[in-house]
Amino acid sequence: KEVYLNGSWLKPEKAQVSVFDRGFMLGDGIYEVSPFYKGKAFKLKEHLQRLQYCLDEISLDFDAFSLEEVIYEAIERAKLSTEDCAVYMQVTRGVAPRTHYYPEDARPTVLLYVFPVILEGFEKKTWDVMATEDKRWHRCDIKSTALLANVMANEEAVAAGFAENLLVRKGYFTEGSHSSLFFVKYGVVHTHPEGPQILSGITRAEVIKICSDLGIKVREKAVHIDELVEVEEIFVTGTTTQIIPVTSITHKNKKVYSASKDSITKKLQQFFIERTRS
Ligand code: PMP
Repeated sequence: KEVYLNGSWLKPEKAQVSVFDRGFMLGDGIYEVSPFYKGKAFKLKEHLQRLQYCLDEISLDFDAFSLEEVIYEAIERAKLSTEDCAVYMQVTRGVAPRTHYYPEDARPTVLLYVFPVILEGFEKKTWDVMATEDKRWHRCDIKSTALLANVMANEEAVAAGFAENLLVRKGYFTEGSHSSLFFVKYGVVHTHPEGPQILSGITRAEVIKICSDLGIKVREKAVHIDELVEVEEIFVTGTTTQIIPVTSITHKNKKVYSASKDSITKKLQQFFIERTRS
C-alpha cells in the first residue's frame, strides 16, 4: 500500500514529514474524506469545494481540484476501482520556523491515500449515544486537522460504551463529534443551521435534498435539550456513517431520550442507498 505525499507515491513507513511541519506543530491544516461506492465517486465535487472553502478561510494557497487526478490514481494503484472505499486528503501549511502568524514562503504539505471502508449494512445499525457540552472552537465550519476537542468528546463516549457524543452549546444540540445531527419533531426534520457552529456536512446536504424531493418538511433550526420530549426520531449522518438512527441519549448519567419511531429515518436510508448505489 502506498500514500501520496507531495507528488510522490511512497510506502507509509517511508512517507515522512518534518517535525517543523505546521500541521504537526500547530494543527495548521485542513482535511477531507470523500467516499467511493464500488469505486464510483459520490459528491466528490462537493467534497473538493468544501476543502477549497476551508483552505481559503485560512488563506492556505492550494488548488483543491488539482487533487482530482491524484485521487483516481490512488484508487487504481490500491486496486480499489470496484470496491467501496474512501479517500483521505490533508493539506497543511508546510514546514517553517514555528510562529503563530502565517509564514511567507512555506509550501503546503499534501497527503492523500485511499482506504477500504464498509459502506454496506449501515441501515441495520442503531446507535446509543451520550451528550456533553460542545467544547470546540467557534469555527466548526472549518474542517481543521486540529481535532482535539472532537477526539476528547468521542473518547468520552466510547470509553463509556456509547457510539457517539452529541454536542450541546448553550443548551442547543449542534452536531456529533464526527457526524451531523437530525431530529424529527411532529413529522418535521430539524437540523442546526449552517454557520460557524457546525461542519457543513455533505451527507447532511444530501439528506436535506432527499427530504425536499420526498416532500418531507425540513427546518434548519437548532433543537434544545429540553425539547427532546417532543422528538420522535433522531439520526446522525456522515460520509462513512451514512445515516444511522439514534435509539437513546444519555446526558449526565441519565437517559434523556428514547426513540419512539423510525419511519422517516428508514425512508431516508432507503432513498440514500438508491442515490449512492445507482
Ligand atoms: N460533523 C463533523 C464534526 C464531522 O467530523 C463529520 C464527518 N466528516 C460530519 C459532521 C459529517 O460530514 P460529512 O457528511 O461531510 O462527512
